Amino acid sequence: MKIGIIGCAGRMGKMIGETAALNGHKVIVGIDRGDNIGKPLTDFIKGAEKGIAVSSNNEDAFMVSDMVIDFTVADNAVPNAELATKYQKPLLIGTTGLTTEQVSVLQKLASETVIIKSANTSLGINIMKDAVKKLAAILDSSYDIEIVEMHHRNKKDAPSGTALLLGKAAAEGRNIDFDANAVTDRTGKRKTGQIGFASLRGGDVIGDHTVIFAGDGERIEISHKATSRQLFVNGVMKIISWVEKGQKPGKLYDMDDVLGL
Ligand code: NAD
Repeated sequence: MKIGIIGCAGRMGKMIGETAALNGHKVIVGIDRGDNIGKPLTDFIKGAEKGIAVSSNNEDAFMVSDMVIDFTVADNAVPNAELATKYQKPLLIGTTGLTTEQVSVLQKLASETVIIKSANTSLGINIMKDAVKKLAAILDSSYDIEIVEMHHRNKKDAPSGTALLLGKAAAEGRNIDFDANAVTDRTGKRKTGQIGFASLRGGDVIGDHTVIFAGDGERIEISHKATSRQLFVNGVMKIISWVEKGQKPGKLYDMDDVLGL
């Protein structure tokens, strides 16, 4: 596959590009911004095609790639999805922190071209999500659900996209409305049925998540700790292979579709 990477100078973009090249794909476009523009793509992505300069024009990625991968900032997601529909190219959005409005625009555009959105591409988190949904369905609202996450000091969004994904799985399991029950800025006493979030930021933590079901006299906790970003990159490789098999637009796809969960 000919791959275009938006955010090619970022932590994720670099690793995705390098692993894609190692897996035999051609990384032919890199988009970023600031001082990175105009530099050789190979400065950021070992194994990228030679003689290509980092561009600031997202459209370049959609014109020539078979698939475009976006790990940048939330406001980039909708413009990229619009370009994906214009050029009829599959798009993976790994960026987190998207608003509900941005996600609903993506849902509409996903009927026109293949768009996959995943806040966490690791196998472990996607399996944990299913476990959380099942536990939330079994345990009634006397078990308070709290989600604690920790990430590196530079993370922009809070709670993390993964924490929200786990919270939504809990709400689905319990059959309650997520937005009406999620609490990200707790003050005062806890109300029954709430799904609480706590975000810690510091050091170089890649991503720790714990979902707590706190009842009277006992607590059930499920945790996932990412110790390498390669974990997410491996999930991205699964997504590329899934797209390569040939997918049709229809819905906003996520890791469940890719992993067949
Ligand atoms: P980063 O800050 O290291 O990299 C982001 C890159 O995007 C930077 O090089 C920046 O210059 C570039 N950029 C920013 N705005 C841009 C724009 N408008 N156009 C082009 N390039 C732009 O961040 P990161 O750690 O690589 O994470 C990127 C995103 O991916 C975050 O939202 C993060 O939460 C998310 N993430 C998702 C997963 C997952 O599994 N889906 C895993 C890790 C991180």
